[in-house]
Amino acid sequence: MTRVCLGIESTAHTFGVGLIDEKGNVLFDEKSFYQPPLGQGMLPRKVFEYHAENAASLIKKAFETSKIDIIAFSQGPGLPNCLSLGATIARYLSLKHNLPLVGVNHPIAHIEIAKLMTGAKDPVILYCSGGNTQIIALTGNRYRIFGETLDIPIGNAFDVLARSLGLEMPGGPKIEKLAENGNWIDLPYVVKGMDFSFSGIVTECQKLYKKGFKKEDIAYSFQETCFSMLIEATERALAHTEKEEVLVTGGVAANQRLKNMLEVMCKDRGAKVFSVPMKYAGDNGVMIGWTGLIMYKSGVRTKLEESFILKDWRVDEVDVKWT
Ligand code: AMP
Ligand code: MG
Repeated sequence: MTRVCLGIESTAHTFGVGLIDEKGNVLFDEKSFYQPPLGQGMLPRKVFEYHAENAASLIKKAFETSKIDIIAFSQGPGLPNCLSLGATIARYLSLKHNLPLVGVNHPIAHIEIAKLMTGAKDPVILYCSGGNTQIIALTGNRYRIFGETLDIPIGNAFDVLARSLGLEMPGGPKIEKLAENGNWIDLPYVVKGMDFSFSGIVTECQKLYKKGFKKEDIAYSFQETCFSMLIEATERALAHTEKEEVLVTGGVAANQRLKNMLEVMCKDRGAKVFSVPMKYAGDNGVMIGWTGLIMYKSGVRTKLEESFILKDWRVDEVDVKWT
């Protein structure tokens, strides 16, 4: 009998509920997405209240869709109050229905769903989302971090810049669109070893906008500069690990320009690029369900007393038993 895992995602703006079976068939995939009012960022209390209102109806629908054998949830990293909501619901469901519980590391879920959906086997991973930006590769039994942002994540940089330009959240797609009609302006380029930094570039863009530079030119130059930095570090990780695949995942993986730039770099190196399908690029419950399922099959169980949230949980703290 094929087992089905329920995945609950609630690290930040998205409360996602997914059902997936052992063969990778997605049986249910719904989410509610918190969008702050124009000009504002995400206030954790507001996000929590929004998720708390929507959670029950999504969970109910999932239970009406299929039998469920395993409960998986995002255990971290993320906004503590949002994480706690998901974890509490997961614990409750596990107790009520007497089902095993699996706490999932959110970045690993982005990686595992992308591997499932693309068929990538052993890639260097460019994980670029609203809350994280890291270059990761599996060596031994750990997803190791080869490079990462020293300050804000790339998706957050897009969102902060977009807000300064008077655009709605999420800012990434709007900046990408504006960039189509932009011209080059010199911006700071900040790669330090394998790490990179975006906040100074955002500040510079904000200054230029106040001085009267065009939104389109700022968007174009910001995108080109930040992506060049990410690609430089990814290329070094490829050279170092001697892997032959690059996988791009996380919400910013929806950006076509990033994918094109990666293609060019990988073609030069004889490596293959895989990018997560748009539908699974942003946070979703299915990725938590899939990761929970493969973890469960490798023997991982999360005891109730170990199921509390890990708000700063890093990807390299997880013992990878399932590959
Ligand atoms: P995640 O945190 O993985 O759910 O991804 C959300 C982030 O992805 C937000 O910061 C968005 O602004 C960003 N994003 C979504 N689409 C795009 C895009 N086309 N270009 C750049 N960033 C994007
Ligand atoms: Mg995410």
